[in-house]
Amino acid sequence: MNNSTSIGQWLSHCNLPRIDAAVLVTHVTGISSVAQFTHPEKTLLDEQLSELDSLKQRRLAGEPLAYIIGEQEFFSLPFRVNPHVLIPRPDTECLVEWLIDHIPTGCSLVDLGTGSGCIAISVASKRSDLSVFASDIDPEAIKIAQLNADLLKVKVSFSVGSWLQAFPKDKTFDVVVSNPPYIRPDDEHLPNLRFEPIGALSDGIDGLECYRQILKQVSSLPHRPDILAFEHGWDQAQDVQILLEEYGFEHSTTHKDYGGNNRFTSWTSDL
Ligand code: GLN
Repeated sequence: MNNSTSIGQWLSHCNLPRIDAAVLVTHVTGISSVAQFTHPEKTLLDEQLSELDSLKQRRLAGEPLAYIIGEQEFFSLPFRVNPHVLIPRPDTECLVEWLIDHIPTGCSLVDLGTGSGCIAISVASKRSDLSVFASDIDPEAIKIAQLNADLLKVKVSFSVGSWLQAFPKDKTFDVVVSNPPYIRPDDEHLPNLRFEPIGALSDGIDGLECYRQILKQVSSLPHRPDILAFEHGWDQAQDVQILLEEYGFEHSTTHKDYGGNNRFTSWTSDL
């Protein structure tokens, strides 16, 4: 393509799905997808054209759009993302909605393995009465989570560390929530997720190791939490319920995501 490539020409020759192409054009030019459609004759500047061409190559190589533009919407909020954090999934929104609806007023909540901060920040954005904490073992993840909280003007206290070990030993929480790495290392979908941090996707063991670690730590808290909620894979509900029972959290409930798959399991004390 030469210097006078128009938006319409680029869109029709880029070999990308229409939606991806429009997102890249908006990212580079600031022109909305509606305006791209109504004014396809608008000319791209040289530097816009070369940036678009290089972003297109990344997309064609399989890199997720969220990493290319550095942002993913979750719970109708824009979250900054980078390859240190998992890209927030819409499936996780049902866990967030359940937490917002079920946590009693004034509770403290901790989100373990927060990544981009999407769970903690989304809950805190709707429940300013809660004290929200979050940890991640990766300091780079905590940096981006803190940036998200700042940009979205939401208060969450972040700490670096392995699950609850990120906090002082005597600190207690009313609600413990986590979306830990739960994909089994032999899962056929794992290679498709090669751009995301493997340590945020899989425990490298059996997909249940993180729940064991978290439950062990939860059991040694000075006070038992009143609510636990763990996201898991569609086929892990029974395993997670059994693990919860082993640690004395009986009668847990599994909830489905919007796709109809078992997605998270909660345990609630008799409040
Ligand atoms: N739900 C994500 C996926 O299947 C994985 C999230 C996780 O491991 N916590 O892609």
